[in-house]
Amino acid sequence: MIDFSLDPELIQLRESVYRYAVDNILPIQEKIQLELDSKEEFAWPIWEKFKEFGLLGFPFPEEYGGQGASALATCVAWESLGLATVDGGMVMSLSAHTILCGVPLMTYGTEDQKKRYLTKLASGQMIGCFALTEPHGGSDSIHLKTTATKKGDRWILNGSKTFITNAPIGDLFLVLASTDKSLGSAGITAFLVEKNFKGFYVSRKLEKMGNKLSPTGELAFEDCEVPEENVLGEVNFGFINVVRTIFGWERSVMLSPSVGSAQALLGGLLAYANQRTAFGKPISYFQAIQRKIVDLKVSLEVARSYLYRIAWHIDRGELPFVEASSFKLFWGDAIVQHVYEAIQLMGGWGYMKEFKIEKGYRDVRLITIGGGTSEVQKTIIARAILGLSGKEIE
Ligand SMILES: Cc1cc2nc3c(=O)[nH]c(=O)nc-3n(C[C@H](O)[C@H](O)[C@H](O)COP(=O)(O)OP(=O)(O)OC[C@H]3O[C@@H](n4cnc5c(N)ncnc54)[C@H](O)[C@@H]3O)c2cc1C
Repeated sequence: MIDFSLDPELIQLRESVYRYAVDNILPIQEKIQLELDSKEEFAWPIWEKFKEFGLLGFPFPEEYGGQGASALATCVAWESLGLATVDGGMVMSLSAHTILCGVPLMTYGTEDQKKRYLTKLASGQMIGCFALTEPHGGSDSIHLKTTATKKGDRWILNGSKTFITNAPIGDLFLVLASTDKSLGSAGITAFLVEKNFKGFYVSRKLEKMGNKLSPTGELAFEDCEVPEENVLGEVNFGFINVVRTIFGWERSVMLSPSVGSAQALLGGLLAYANQRTAFGKPISYFQAIQRKIVDLKVSLEVARSYLYRIAWHIDRGELPFVEASSFKLFWGDAIVQHVYEAIQLMGGWGYMKEFKIEKGYRDVRLITIGGGTSEVQKTIIARAILGLSGKEIE
C-alpha cells in the first residue's frame, strides 16, 4: 500500500516550525541579515533561536538531548525554515552541524562518544563540522592526502582540508583521513577532532559568493594527536560507512530548505507576475512568463515527492545512496535554473538587492557543487545503472 499523505503530527510540525521561524527568527533576521551578509559574519542571535526550538539536535535521540525526529520529520522541519525564508547560510551552518557532524555521530558513535559530544552538539555547547574535502580536489574524495598513523594509543594526523563549513566557529570536527592508501575507499577512517587538540588549527577563513552568514574555512593538521577512543566507527570504514551515510542525508534531507524556499519563491513570482504590467496587461498574461512559473511549479512538486521518498527509505534503515545522488542532480540543476529565470521574470527588480532574489541566486548556486558536483552525481548514477565497479569509473 502507498500513502502519500503526511500524518497529522508532521503537518503540525510543518506549521509549528514555520510559525516559530516567522515569529521569532525573521524579526531578528530583518535587522541584521544584509549587514552580516556584506561582512560575511555568522548570525549568533539566529543560532540562539535554532537552539531555543531544539533544532541543533533535531534528529538525535532524546536521551542525548535531541528531539528524536525521523529523517522525514527533519525534511519537513527544514523545509519550513526554507519556506519561512530563514537565511540560507544560517540553515547551511545548522545542517553542517546537525546532519553532517551529528547524524554520523548518532549512527556510528560509541556510548561514550555520544555522551561526550552528541549531547553538546544538541545543547549548542559545541558547533560541529564535517571535513572530507582537501585542497587537491573534492570530487576525488577517496584519494585523501591527509594521513593518520597509529602511535601507541593515539593517531597522528597530518594534512589539510578546505571548504569546511563552520570551520572558523567549530568546536568538533569529523575528519576523514587515509589509514591505508593502498586500499582506496576501504582505507579511510573517521576521527572526532576537538578544536583544542594539539597540532590542529583553522588555517584560513574563506570568502564566498553566497551563503555568507555561514563561515567556511581551511584546516591544518601537523602531527595532530587524536586519542584512539575518538575513532568514529571502525578503522578503515570511515568512507564505506560514515561518509556514505552522510552523503545519503546530505544529498536529500539537507536540500529540503531549498524546496521550502522554492515554494516561497513561487508565491512571490505569482504575486509579482499578476501585479507587474507591460503593454497594458499583467505580465502573467505572457506565455514566456507563464512557462517560467509552470516549470518551477512542476519541478517543485517532483522534488518534494522524491525527497520525502528518500527520507522514507532512510527511516526504514536503508541507505538510498544512488537515489540521493539522483535527487541532488535533478533538484540542484533545476533550482539553479529556476532562480536564474526568476531574476529574469522580475527584470531590473530581480537584479536589485531589495527583493533578495540576487541573494537567493548566490546562495542556491552552491547546490550543484557542494556535497558532490552534478558531474560526480552523474558518474555515481551511471556506475549504478550500468553495473560498473568503482574502479572502472575512477
Ligand atoms: C560553500 C562550500 C561549502 C562546503 N562545505 C564542505 C564541508 O563542510 N565539508 C567538506 O568536506 N566539503 C565541503 N565543501 C566541498 C565540496 O563538497 C566540494 O567543493 C565538491 O565536492 C567539489 O570539489 P572541488 O571543489 O574540489 O572540485 P573538483 O573536484 O576540483 O572539480 C572541479 C570540476 O571537475 C569536475 N570533475 C571532477 N571529477 C570529475 C569526473 N570524474 N567526471 C566529470 N567531472 C569531474 C567537477 O564536477 C568540477 O566541475 C564545500 C564546498 C563549498 C563551495
